[in-house]
Amino acid sequence: MEYSLDSKKIAKATREWLEKRGVGIREIAELTFFLQKDYVKDLSIEECMDSVERVLSKREVQNAVLTGIQLDILAEQGKLMQPLQDMIYNDEGLYGCDEVLALSIVNVYGSIGFTNFGYVDKVKPGCLKRLNDKHGAMKHTFLDDIVGAISAAASSRIAHRKQAEKEADSAMPEDDPEA
Ligand code: MG
Repeated sequence: MEYSLDSKKIAKATREWLEKRGVGIREIAELTFFLQKDYVKDLSIEECMDSVERVLSKREVQNAVLTGIQLDILAEQGKLMQPLQDMIYNDEGLYGCDEVLALSIVNVYGSIGFTNFGYVDKVKPGCLKRLNDKHGAMKHTFLDDIVGAISAAASSRIAHRKQAEKEADSAMPEDDPEA
């Protein structure tokens, strides 16, 4: 059969694979909450979950999630070519392509996502600590960065929206509604 892109299939596979790799939407939302709680008054975990859902609905995010998880799984199975196999399996610090793939997610909602991404990567709060643990059977060399990036993108989305809401509230009647 001839190939054609099926967006619904990709969106569905993204959810399923995150779940199979042990990452819940709520956990990602908790990272987003951690990043934004000091800046947004009355921020709720539901708001963060909604933002994570929006980020996950983006095609470039889905592509990064699936690519990263696939590489992690191939590394677990020993199916990558050498020396890539050993680097990804052992999460070599000087490899760096895991962070680069995650950056395609961070970009989606503007540059403040970069700062947030760097921050969670350093601090490794919540589920990132677990994903970064090297002792389990599952290797998450790519997934830890991807999850951090999704939380960072969701966080910058909230920041941009809150600002837009604030400005809409203070708009004068004669302001241009299209601006
Ligand atoms: Mg990594």
